[in-house]
Amino acid sequence: MALYFSYNQKTYSERQFNKQLERVKSFGFDGLFFPVANANTIGHSTKERKILPFWNMIAQAKSAGLKTGIKLQCFQNRVLYQNDSFTPPMNYLGVTYVPKSDYYPVCPNNPDGLKTFYNITDLIANNTFLDFIYLEHFRFPFYWEKEELDIQNRIPPFCYCPFCVTEFSSVVGEIISTGEQIQSMMPEWLEWRTEVMFSLLSYIQEKVPNSVQIIVALPPLSLIDLPFTTGQLPQGLIEEGCFLSPQLHHKVKAKNLAWIEDLLDQYQLDLRIRRLIPSFEYGNAEEFEYLAKLEKKYSGIIFCPLPDAM
Ligand SMILES: [Zn+2]
Repeated sequence: MALYFSYNQKTYSERQFNKQLERVKSFGFDGLFFPVANANTIGHSTKERKILPFWNMIAQAKSAGLKTGIKLQCFQNRVLYQNDSFTPPMNYLGVTYVPKSDYYPVCPNNPDGLKTFYNITDLIANNTFLDFIYLEHFRFPFYWEKEELDIQNRIPPFCYCPFCVTEFSSVVGEIISTGEQIQSMMPEWLEWRTEVMFSLLSYIQEKVPNSVQIIVALPPLSLIDLPFTTGQLPQGLIEEGCFLSPQLHHKVKAKNLAWIEDLLDQYQLDLRIRRLIPSFEYGNAEEFEYLAKLEKKYSGIIFCPLPDAM
């Protein structure tokens, strides 16, 4: 079984980075995930900032015997919000999202968002060093870190932007213009949203080699609420060959470790297969040890952030 943690790019020389890789292995980790926020992360030569070129780091980790993955920010992009032409997601009442923190959601039907998504997928396609692609924010916007996880409101929070409404209208063959109309067609709306996500997934699947495992991050919602809230259909994603990574970040939700086990039990029971690579965060060495024990039950674990000792 594998144990993973996500790795932030630091200012390393090749030699320093090799030393870090040795330390990673000495902690018992089998692999690293490199965060990719946008195409600049992997495209730029970063010599002047003394950052090793992205693909060099991955190749180096691979030749050190570690598995490698990239953690892709799919529909979350701070840079896009600086473009005048960009329109943020829109809620049921037609109000556009205004970022108040570091969450910059992008609608999966937004043309600028899609362009970015296709670009970055093309950039990572055919890289032979990659074992995993971790799709973060691969969903309709939902700020789970701040929102209630018990979904009381029976209307998905996002997205009702003009691109969504137009696209949905063309699928159902009638002009939809109001929230009330959408509410009366909720089953069709929900089905259409999951199909949007599946067609984006097939774009990735066509681009990357079969040897690359695709992991889809899920907010820590109950399974029944996921498709409704985010457009992610867990069982369908598994049937498409993906691994699922519920993000069980208990600290951010002010929950205890029992909350993690409860959710995992539910996922185990309902999905019935070992396709889970849960993502954890931890606060201290004790929690780290506790969570590492869960590793045996699953295909792998992604820890974020790093142990202090790193
Ligand atoms: Zn939209």
